[in-house]
Amino acid sequence: MRINIIPRSEFVRVRQAPQGYFAGQASGDELKKLTLIADMCRLNTLSAVKRAGSGHLGSSFSAMDIVVWLYYREMNTVEFGFKHPDRDIYFSSKGHDVPGLYSVFFSLGVISEELFLKLRRLGGLHGHPDVSNPGIEANSGSLGMGISKGRGMAWSKNYWRLGGRVFVMTGDGEFQEGQNYEALRGAAHLGQDRLIVIMDHNKVQSDKLVKDVGDLGNLEEKFLSFGWQVERCDGNDFRALKTVFKKINLISGKPTIIITDTVKGRGVSFMEHPRVLREKGLYKWHAGAPDDASYAAASKELLEKINIQLEVANEGQTNLIHIINHQIKSYMTKARYIYDALLNDSDYGPISEKARPMIEKGYTEVTEGVNFVQDFLVASNIEKGTFAYDIQPLDFKKKT
Ligand SMILES: [Mg+2]
Repeated sequence: MRINIIPRSEFVRVRQAPQGYFAGQASGDELKKLTLIADMCRLNTLSAVKRAGSGHLGSSFSAMDIVVWLYYREMNTVEFGFKHPDRDIYFSSKGHDVPGLYSVFFSLGVISEELFLKLRRLGGLHGHPDVSNPGIEANSGSLGMGISKGRGMAWSKNYWRLGGRVFVMTGDGEFQEGQNYEALRGAAHLGQDRLIVIMDHNKVQSDKLVKDVGDLGNLEEKFLSFGWQVERCDGNDFRALKTVFKKINLISGKPTIIITDTVKGRGVSFMEHPRVLREKGLYKWHAGAPDDASYAAASKELLEKINIQLEVANEGQTNLIHIINHQIKSYMTKARYIYDALLNDSDYGPISEKARPMIEKGYTEVTEGVNFVQDFLVASNIEKGTFAYDIQPLDFKKKT
């Protein structure tokens, strides 16, 4: 099946679009761009998880707008680099949302396309955050530990007189863990004002409502009683995020927690939690790759949304070239397998006589498929230089 990936060049194009490029009020450009970028990242996240065959979409989608805001607008990290001692630090304590983070990293050039597409593969990107991957600041996924880690990092920045702040994303379900409350008290005691916790309050933990599993009570009162600065906003609305971050940047002497109200699965209508819970009783998009039909439907919905936003900006056809490139790549992968099999050189050992006709048939299909795509490219008048990188000549000459 075809997997759609929006290449990094498209993100650069959107990011560099001049003021007034997006229709409507010029002042709204910045937020419209971020909305578009977040949807583009959602599509890439969906595709990476589909390709991996597993991963967490619901949590990635609820946190996506916040992660885009942080890396595109709030933090100095990409500008300074991930080794700079004065950089802002971000990590997610819940960890399940890491496919979404990878897609933001890919959009910014922190990780390559090759690595991005190696989610949950040996030598690729981990299913839970791991510092061996570029841009990952803390191993996480063991719930309830993130604020403590963030405290240590913020303390260290103070001790060494370094710049930068520490942003920790948490889930809401993980506030059933006691360690959080030790960390809240300690951070307030030390007045750790460079520590900012953002709760992705999507109301769902795994596949059930948090309030049904272990109700958290009045969150604002709780955090205020621990001596924190408490803010609350819609975490899937860039206008609200802009306002709240502007406000917290003026706060000193206290750590801050922002309760961001979000929707699990945000961005794909049939993955958004209120609808799923109403229809199915359990939230089914917490973990696992979508089946082919769901992938196709989700991908179509996101692509349509992206294209509408681009059309508003007098653009269109964002990813045609790349979709075709991936079609060719998938033919190439099949072709290599078939070629090896025909030479009895496959990792799976010699091919049986029963399998041989099927493999030979596959060889014909692959050759025809590549020819079809190449003809299409020529007929579409797409300049050859644009995709030379992705197209490799097929060579089926037998080894001698
Ligand atoms: Mg949750």
